[in-house]
Amino acid sequence: MINKIVIANRGEIALRILRACKELGIHTVAVHSDADRDLKHVRLADESVCIGPAPSAESYLNVPALISAAEVTSAEAIHPGYGFLSENADFAERVENSGFIFIGPRPETIRQMGDKITAIEAMKAAGVPCVPGSDGPLDHDNERTLRLAQRIGYPVIIKAAGGGGGRGMRVVYSEATLLSAIALTKAEAKNAFGNDTLYMEKFLENPRHIEFQVLADTHGNAIHLGERDCSMQRRHQKVVEEAPAPGIDAETRARMGEVCAAACRRIGYRGAGTFEFLYENGEFYFIEMNTRVQVEHPVTEMITGVDIVREQIRIASGLPLAYRQEDIGIDGHAIECRINAEDPDNFMPCPGTLKSVHFAGGPGIRIDSHIYSGYKVPPHYDSMIGKLIAHGDTRESALARMRTALGEMVIDGIKTNIPLQQDILRDSTFAEGGMNIHYLEKKLGL
Ligand code: ADP
Repeated sequence: MINKIVIANRGEIALRILRACKELGIHTVAVHSDADRDLKHVRLADESVCIGPAPSAESYLNVPALISAAEVTSAEAIHPGYGFLSENADFAERVENSGFIFIGPRPETIRQMGDKITAIEAMKAAGVPCVPGSDGPLDHDNERTLRLAQRIGYPVIIKAAGGGGGRGMRVVYSEATLLSAIALTKAEAKNAFGNDTLYMEKFLENPRHIEFQVLADTHGNAIHLGERDCSMQRRHQKVVEEAPAPGIDAETRARMGEVCAAACRRIGYRGAGTFEFLYENGEFYFIEMNTRVQVEHPVTEMITGVDIVREQIRIASGLPLAYRQEDIGIDGHAIECRINAEDPDNFMPCPGTLKSVHFAGGPGIRIDSHIYSGYKVPPHYDSMIGKLIAHGDTRESALARMRTALGEMVIDGIKTNIPLQQDILRDSTFAEGGMNIHYLEKKLGL
């Protein structure tokens, strides 16, 4: 087993990684910016290193500083968490070339999955169902592009191969605006991602977002941990997630999960990963693969009993998976509400000092959060300050526990989105389950 890990992240996920390390008896190094000296995991880590000033570009994205931190502390491995450098193939390569273990997939895999066109190509070849589309980049032949859109059928969506975070996409409803939309998206993509390669897909009008969690070791084993439903989104940001997905039966779960696990074996995947699908009229359509641990991983942990971060570390240590597919069962239902430091009315971030914090508790309640009374939420980073997770025997019981828990939460001193989460948990359509990805924005009148 790896004996010392640099946690190259901040906030709740840094604390989550620290907890897994402690349980495994692994020494921890917290790296932090000037603004993050008071983070909970920094205080709890065996060692800590300041890697730069508050702006992420100079600290959490500062590759030389991160590598030096690993060198000066004689660490063996670097865990990137999510966001920041977690899906940066160049970083993973630098880590490995500097003699450290990168806790994640091989750099080539990250690169392949980071370009959506090569990702889709690899998935199609592995038998994963994809959205009907251009099967490759759009070229300069306008006539061909127009014919392609006609064949796919309007509406279509133009997407940047290098896009991410919900940016670099444009929906086109008719032939009249296709070429101008392509020109606009191309210019935007060049600006935002330094890569103006575009592709085209059928635009699915009312899909759900359903994703499968996988784990793959370096001995050729790959398993799936079932699916999550993350359709409750605002501006492509997930707000509430749950597992399993309402309405997905055991046979479908086993079939689609095995499609994903088989794809992992075929591409030589290493570590934890997520296959994201749009799901419409009973069909799954792959849109992208996330080559890292996800914010919403706890809902899967709650229903399978598998510690995904521990498995990431075991896999990176070269150990075989601790589970076979037949060991994985689904126990009840879990829901996660992301707690953000933001105004629930206008979604503006609300950093500031927390006067008092009291967390919820009771059966089936889990909180992954780095905040505490007196903690000052800095203005420089993502506004998520924690995650509240409720588990129950049934979806109804998980919902009831979540409602109670949201009512118990006290976060005084700043505004949070807890009132919005309470509103969602009271919504009768949400209680039925199975809404599409537009439901939340419609409900919010956006
Ligand atoms: P990103 O990497 O920017 O998150 P994705 O490819 O995952 O990009 O797409 C983000 C979101 O955009 C999806 O969750 C979905 O809401 C929407 N989207 C993407 N492709 C399609 C499509 N073919 N049809 C309908 N919606 C889509």
